[in-house]
Amino acid sequence: MFWYDAASFTPMADPITMTARGLVAGNHPRIPFIEGDGIGPDIWRAARAVLDAAVAKAYAGRRAVAWEQVYAGEQAFRDTGEWLPAATEQAFRDRLVGIKGPLATPVGGGIRSLNVALRQRLDLYVCLRPVRWFPGVPSPVRHPELVDMVVFRENTEDVYAGYELAAGTDGAVRLADFLGREYGWRIGPDTGIGIKPVSRAASERLVRAALRWAIDHGRRSVTLVHKGNIQKYTEGAFRQWGYDLARREFGDRVTCLDGAADADAAAAAATATDGSRLVVKDAIADSVFQQLLTRPEEYDVLATTNLNGDYLSDALAAQVGGIGIAPGANINYVTGHAVFEATHGTAPKYAGKDMANPCSLILSGAMMLDYLGWPEAARLVEEAVARTIGERFVTYDFARAMEGAVQASTSAFGERVAGNLG
Ligand code: NAP
Repeated sequence: MFWYDAASFTPMADPITMTARGLVAGNHPRIPFIEGDGIGPDIWRAARAVLDAAVAKAYAGRRAVAWEQVYAGEQAFRDTGEWLPAATEQAFRDRLVGIKGPLATPVGGGIRSLNVALRQRLDLYVCLRPVRWFPGVPSPVRHPELVDMVVFRENTEDVYAGYELAAGTDGAVRLADFLGREYGWRIGPDTGIGIKPVSRAASERLVRAALRWAIDHGRRSVTLVHKGNIQKYTEGAFRQWGYDLARREFGDRVTCLDGAADADAAAAAATATDGSRLVVKDAIADSVFQQLLTRPEEYDVLATTNLNGDYLSDALAAQVGGIGIAPGANINYVTGHAVFEATHGTAPKYAGKDMANPCSLILSGAMMLDYLGWPEAARLVEEAVARTIGERFVTYDFARAMEGAVQASTSAFGERVAGNLG
């Protein structure tokens, strides 16, 4: 229940603030949302109804979200000529926490990607992607129930920094010339050049966030995933900085399995029996891809650089039913800024057809409720999604691979999830 401002008749909401003890959301946080393009409005309608109902149920009406619609993508471009209006960016900046549906990527100039722009401008340095299987969801692997992982992907640098020069341009030719003179690197004039920055600061804050989260959530291990055997000073450095940080800041809570210290080996033996310390290990990205398929039970939290994380989180999502159900968030754990999002795109061929699967956005909303400190509502949402899928009442994408399923529209699926709360 909201109190309304008498002059403007807008709901009175609590500001979300970041304190030394973490995020404080109050009982009526104002949260900006972007419906998104394509299937965005369909899945947002379903997700919002589920989230509101879960919060109302969990807190008997004492808490509610004051939603604030903001615009980006095609709709914003049509109305304002801008893909990402300054007012939208400002709303996410001011309110700290927001949520969004998928956005179409502008074709032919302007912003390279709206999602990447938001992540960079708000310095949302962690891309968080939990991956778990809901019983009944069609999966291409025999034991999807063994997949229960959380990917911490670095979100601000690596090849996503956008430092690229097209082949044959003056810039590329001059840079190639400089690199040839300075380092003897042979780069021909027909070569596009990209730069992969991986800094100590960005690597450390990503690994710190993963370790803290893993400890807070009682997880078993954090694996630093890298390609350091080949890219020694970027991916290899990420691995080393990760281990160094783990020892320096979490030495009394973790066991590092990089073989660097005898003491760690002894601690590792202890861990094997009492399981009280978080294990920090590392693995080379290409081997991780095959082991996630063959031995998923050996992996828990994965911390990795940007491009590895991009590939890994989609590959893992496929193991548990595809991008229609994979939730995600982009977070800065220092400032508190966070944008929760559907991880799939706008699926334009289903736009406005009330067909798409809203699970990714619904479950991203559950992650948001957790982040606000409302875990009771988050659990209600997850359990209701699980129950609904268990009843084989699913959208077209699951129905086509599920025996005996009832194919539901987006809205009907959302209503059934809301009805299954609690
Ligand atoms: P996409 O929109 O993710 O759709 C690809 C296919 O994935 C769909 O045709 C559909 O497959 C399936 N799919 C995606 N979301 C689904 C859902 N909720 N329910 C059921 N099926 C779903 O990828 P795209 O076609 O490559 O990209 C379209 C636009 O989205 C582009 O402009 C792209 O840049 C943008 N994009 C945005 C984001 C984001 O905002 N985070 C992410 C990725 C892409 P079937 O037809 O086989 O059923």
